Amino acid sequence: MEDNKKQNILRRFPSVQSILQDSAVVSLAESFPHEFIKEKIEELIKSEKSKAIESLNSENERTVSNNFNFTVDFFVKKLLDDLNNFSYSLKKVVNGTGVVIHTNLGRSILPESAVNNVRKISSSYSNLEFNLIEGKRGKRYSHIEYLLKKILKCEKALVVNNNAAAVFMALSSFCAGAKKEVIVSRGELVEIGGSFRIPDIMKASGAELIEVGTTNKTKPQDYESAINENTALLLKVHQSNFRMSGFVSAPSSEDIAAIGKKHNIPVMEDLGSGSFVGMEKFGLPCEPTAQEVVNAGVDIVTFSGDKLLGGPQAGIIAGKAGYIDMIASNPLNRAFRIDKMTLAALEAILFEYLDIERAVKNIPTLFLIAQTEKEIRKKAVKLLNKIKKFKNIDKNLFDFKIIEDFSIVGGGALPDYELKTFALRIVHKKISASGLGKFLRDCNVPIIGKIKNGEYLLDMRTVLEDDFSDILNAFVLISK
Ligand SMILES: *Cc1c(COP(=O)(O)O)cnc(C)c1O
Repeated sequence: MEDNKKQNILRRFPSVQSILQDSAVVSLAESFPHEFIKEKIEELIKSEKSKAIESLNSENERTVSNNFNFTVDFFVKKLLDDLNNFSYSLKKVVNGTGVVIHTNLGRSILPESAVNNVRKISSSYSNLEFNLIEGKRGKRYSHIEYLLKKILKCEKALVVNNNAAAVFMALSSFCAGAKKEVIVSRGELVEIGGSFRIPDIMKASGAELIEVGTTNKTKPQDYESAINENTALLLKVHQSNFRMSGFVSAPSSEDIAAIGKKHNIPVMEDLGSGSFVGMEKFGLPCEPTAQEVVNAGVDIVTFSGDKLLGGPQAGIIAGKAGYIDMIASNPLNRAFRIDKMTLAALEAILFEYLDIERAVKNIPTLFLIAQTEKEIRKKAVKLLNKIKKFKNIDKNLFDFKIIEDFSIVGGGALPDYELKTFALRIVHKKISASGLGKFLRDCNVPIIGKIKNGEYLLDMRTVLEDDFSDILNAFVLISK
């Protein structure tokens, strides 16, 4: 009997085939793969069927029949709504965390010039490895090396997949095979995150790690005393994501470069973030720029493309010609090589740096850091006014307030430095802060905020004006 009722209801649903034959669905085939559309229809029918069966538990067959719509049109409309909101798995999000270089949210946003160049280069053939003057094979890295030489005043440069690959490849170039030692300060044996630990990367590259100094203090003399005939490299590593204070000291890049020169041993510095612009320009604590480290006489400098530089994921290796040639001839160079899209973005970014003022204006990572409190507050007020004016947002459901807060740079740069910011505090009268966070993450364009003292905040430093319409749409949805 029960089974009969169930069967009666299930029989009323349209078939997948009948929905697929609807003319609106047929024309969807231009935008979506057939199998994908079919799967979506199957999911929709399945979900409606289980809702109907569920309600049979509390309602009689007649009521359930009346409450559900079994027409093809109903499912077609639902399908079109669904696909209207289609996005790939990798999608745009709104960053309301205030962390400018957020590794989980894709680190740096590319400037217009880089995006346009990626589009242009990747939608046609290019002279990626073709010398247009001689009409024969050319060099992939020539497209960025000329700019790095100009900006850093280095002899040669090379780019690989990321900075982890750059460090690994450089170490392996100096240390593969024979028992070669690399001298590092105990204060710099860092873990960057994502399982990048200096001691592990050393071991994997075949280098023997020689620790010198202590956790808090290392002197130039400590490096010098550890040098022997097996020493292949002196390595300095930027501490990146932590800061030591108090009774601390470490030799400068100049100190170590001088020791290397004296003993004829190459010196490498892993700068991590590696900025081209002095952070004091933005009122932040001073960090050595990549130009300064090259200028200090360090033979090989490595840094990321997508941290403070503000470009695509890449690992840049710059320095003295002999060493860069040696690293470039490592077979790993082929394994870690970057593709044309990265090169297209990187060349456009580096081009901006030919004029620092221009770079600060055009490169999002830099201008998000450089924003003044006043500018951030103005952006917050603008968003709040838009929300207040938007008819479809139920103002009775929310309490909005602009409050002072702190953001951070992220990406291992200036770890303990708090940048003053303004945030939009959002209290929903019926949903908790974490519930609100979950709802906003689930939106068509997910919004990622931060929760502080149990309150939900959108840090306006990292929210872009281009995000405003997505935020407004999300609040309309919650109001429903
Ligand atoms: C971030 C960082 C790395 C890793 O760089 P990726 O570009 O993320 O591979 C290596 N060393 C230091 C000091 C870093 O800060």
